[in-house]
Amino acid sequence: AAQEGFEADEVEGALGEAGHGPLPVLAVVGRPNVGKSTLVNRIIGRREAVVEDRPGVTRDRVTYEAEWAGRRFKLVDTGGWEQDVLGIDASVAAQAEYAIEAADAVVFVVDATVGATDTDEAVVKLLRRAGKPVVLCANKVDGPSSEADAAMLWSLGLGEPMPVSALHGRGTGDMLDEVLKALPEAPAQRFGTTVGGPRRIALIGRPNVGKSSLLNKVAGEERVVVNELAGTTRDPVDEMIELGGVTWKFVDTAGIRKRVHLQEGADYYASLRTAAAVEKAEVAVILIDASESISVQDQRIVTMAVEAGRAIVIAYNKWDTLDEERRYYLEREIETEFQQIAWAPRVNVSAQTGRHMEKLVPAIETALAGWETRVPTGRLNAFLGELVAAHPHPIRGGKQPRILFGTQAGTKPPRFVLFASGFIEAGYRRFVERRLREEFGFDGTPIHISVRVRE
Ligand code: GDP
Ligand code: GDP
Repeated sequence: AAQEGFEADEVEGALGEAGHGPLPVLAVVGRPNVGKSTLVNRIIGRREAVVEDRPGVTRDRVTYEAEWAGRRFKLVDTGGWEQDVLGIDASVAAQAEYAIEAADAVVFVVDATVGATDTDEAVVKLLRRAGKPVVLCANKVDGPSSEADAAMLWSLGLGEPMPVSALHGRGTGDMLDEVLKALPEAPAQRFGTTVGGPRRIALIGRPNVGKSSLLNKVAGEERVVVNELAGTTRDPVDEMIELGGVTWKFVDTAGIRKRVHLQEGADYYASLRTAAAVEKAEVAVILIDASESISVQDQRIVTMAVEAGRAIVIAYNKWDTLDEERRYYLEREIETEFQQIAWAPRVNVSAQTGRHMEKLVPAIETALAGWETRVPTGRLNAFLGELVAAHPHPIRGGKQPRILFGTQAGTKPPRFVLFASGFIEAGYRRFVERRLREEFGFDGTPIHISVRVRE
């Protein structure tokens, strides 16, 4: 039945789009210059992305949303590695490792005009070990005459090489069809949806904020012998830690501990590692060094977690070093720099002294509760009705756009679809979000609101 001018299938369609959970992740890996960035650009269909002429350019953005044949997925681009930091083999392996770790499927790009190199073989070993589905992209096959080059790559033992010209678009459709076959509908495995499974925490923050110190502190003697836990599949890089009587899975801790890979200046790796950890986690504990000014890098990390739609806790570390003056300025900085996450629970900790470690778990639980909150449609509409009556949208061009009804399309994080009689301005949307938060909680979680306008 039509609902205030919206057809039932229109409503359902909107819910379908807004209600998708976490997207499956596709990583694009391969040696430098094989055409990864070109391929990523081709897939996301935007020039926004990449292809840097200068080698060693640090890139912040490593994940993109993409769509093929009506299916959406996340793309992890590993084109931004820094050649100088490590030897070629080591750096390719390191970036591939992080990306593969975070991915549900992998596109392995090889330059067909060059053929398989030792570095390619090294990546193949990694791929085998990871056991993720792989689509082999034989790139730079710009025309039929180079198809034979692609066929040579059967030797890698990864199945059929897909001949592609990322530059001209040739063959990318067929390759993406293969990718969709390899890619699961949803990254179900990585989410703690299994009953009783441990919740997943990503401990993130820029280098030297104290991640490894905090991990050591909380792990202490509490490290759980994993074999004792029935039904847990363990990633070698994840660690089970018991806190507050509950076992948690800290994801990607190898990246924190094994910091030989992460020398100063290797910002790109840090970014990639952060993205990988966030993808695998339900909740991100973002560590900030409270003794220093909040930096652009801190904000980028926050943005990454917010955009990924994870539950978020902010931990201000090194609290033991703060004097009164610094505390004063920190509060001012938080107000101006972290406005966008004013809803995130906050703890002031010291990984060194152990200060307030016991507050970490309650904050994480609060954030996860907000992340999973579902508002029944009846309650939501009673709330919206009152809100709209008490605070109508400003009149524009003689008309008054009105929110007619709404529904929560999903959780983790909460997603709402509002149906309206006209364009709802950004300011009013923010107002609605603020009031939704006041009314229903949502501490520690981003919330998504999309608006459908009746034509
Ligand atoms: P990445 O380092 O793997 O990300 O490689 P890039 O995407 O930066 O590409 C490296 C170089 O190869 C660039 O000069 C691209 O224009 C070129 N390239 C990428 N794909 C193709 C292709 O399909 N055919 C040809 N002829 N050149 C390509
Ligand atoms: P990561 O790079 O984020 O893993 O940071 P680390 O755990 O290696 O810590 C970086 C430096 O900060 C080390 O010298 C730590 O001893 C120091 N540190 C970490 N947490 C604290 C803290 O709470 N208080 C103080 N005073 N120093 C800390």
